[in-house]
Amino acid sequence: MALIVQKFGGSSVADAARMRNVAGIITETYKAGNDVVVAVSAQGDTTDDLIEKAREINPDASKREMDMLLAAGEQMSAALLAMAIEKLGFPVVSLLGWQAGVQTDSHYGMAKIKTVSSERLTAELAKRNIVIVAGFQGINKYEDVTTLGRGGSDTSAVALACALRADKCQIYTDVDGVYTADPRKVTGARKLDEITYDEMLELATLGAQVLHNRSVEMAKKYGIEIEVLTSLERKPGTIVKENAKMEKMLVRGVAKDTNVARISIVGLPDTPGVAFRLFDRLAQKKINIDIILQSVGRDGTKDITFTVAGEQADEAMAALADMGNANVVCDRDVAKVSIVGAGMETHPGVAAKMFEALYDKSINIQMIATSEIKVSVLIARGDADKAVQAVHDAFIK
Ligand code: ADP
Ligand code: ASP
Ligand code: MG
Repeated sequence: MALIVQKFGGSSVADAARMRNVAGIITETYKAGNDVVVAVSAQGDTTDDLIEKAREINPDASKREMDMLLAAGEQMSAALLAMAIEKLGFPVVSLLGWQAGVQTDSHYGMAKIKTVSSERLTAELAKRNIVIVAGFQGINKYEDVTTLGRGGSDTSAVALACALRADKCQIYTDVDGVYTADPRKVTGARKLDEITYDEMLELATLGAQVLHNRSVEMAKKYGIEIEVLTSLERKPGTIVKENAKMEKMLVRGVAKDTNVARISIVGLPDTPGVAFRLFDRLAQKKINIDIILQSVGRDGTKDITFTVAGEQADEAMAALADMGNANVVCDRDVAKVSIVGAGMETHPGVAAKMFEALYDKSINIQMIATSEIKVSVLIARGDADKAVQAVHDAFIK
C-alpha cells in the first residue's frame, strides 16, 4: 500500500462530468489499496470570476479580503468533489487548508507555506477516508485565511506530499505532460518523459504555467518526484526529478512571460552608491527586480534599466517618483522569452544560436540575461509568439 497525493487543476474539475471523471481516478487509486490525499483547484474560471466580482465592488479591496474571497473557489470544488466520491460509495472527507494544517506566512495573495501539521490528515487516513483538501489556501498566525498566488494549488499538493512523506505526487492537468513549449501555442512542441527540478523550476519561473514554481522548489528541497499527467486519458506523463535523461537536447524548453514591465532611469549621476540607493528603495517596498542593465557612464551620467513583474510596475514607479534630474520611464509592452536546458552549460554557442533565430525574424533584443542553464531576452510583446516559435524551431527538431 502506498500513500499517493493527487492534484486536479481547474479545467479537470470544470463541470459535473469532469468532477465525476476525477472522482473515478481517485477511487480507482483508492481501490488499488492506496491511501489517497487530493488537492483540488477552483472549478474552471471561478478564480477569475471572483476577482471580477471584487473589482465591481471595490477595485482597491485589501489583500486580506481578496484572500477570504478567492479561497471560496477551492472550498466549493473540494466539497463538490467529495460529494462525487460519496456518490460512488467511498468514504471521503473534504477539508479547507486550515483544517488540513496548512500554515503560511502573512503575505496575503502570495503566502508561503511554513509547515503542514499533518495530525488531522493522518487521523482521516487512519479511518481509511479519502481526503480532499482545498488547494491554494492556508492560514496565518492571526488565523486569517491566506492564498498562495495564482496557480498555487500545485504547491499545496507538493506540500501535502512532503508533510505526509507520500510515495507519489501526481499533478493532473489538461495537457498530458510537460512539453518543450506550450503545446497549445507552439507547433512541434514535444512531450518530455523527464525533466530535472532545476530545468522545471526555471521554466515555471520564466512563464511555463504548467507547474507553480514554488511547487518545484519544494519538491526539489524534499526530494519528492512529481508526475505531470492528464486527467482526460490514462497514460503516463512527465516525471520531474533530480537527474533526468538528457535525450541529446541542449535546450529542454522555451518559455514566454508577458507579465513583465521594463523601467529605465535615464541620466543618473555616474558616481558610486547610485545603484545601491536605487535598488534599496525598491527592496524596501518588497519589489522583485529581474534583469538589470547599466550603461557605461558618459559625460558624468549613466542609465539603469531593469524589469519587474507587471503587477509591481506601478509600485516601482511610485517608489522612484523623486529621482532628481533623472528621467524614469516604464514600458509595459514587452515580453521575456527564455530557453532552458542543463545541457547548455557545457556547450558554447547556444546563446548565439538563439540570437540568430531572432535576427532571422528581424526581432530586436532589448535586454539579455543568462545563467548556467538559461538565456532570456526581453523583446517587444507583439513579437513574443513569433519569437518563441522561431527559437523553438531552431533548437527542437
Ligand atoms: P491547471 O488548471 O491544471 O493547473 P494550468 O492552466 O495552470 O492547468 O496549466 C496547464 C497549461 O499550461 C496547459 O494547458 C498549457 O497551455 C500551459 N503550458 C505552458 N507551457 C507549457 C509546457 N511547457 N508544457 C505543458 N503545458 C504548458
Ligand atoms: N484557483 C487558483 C488559480 O486560479 C489556484 C490554482 O488553480 O492553482 O490561480
Ligand atoms: Mg495551474
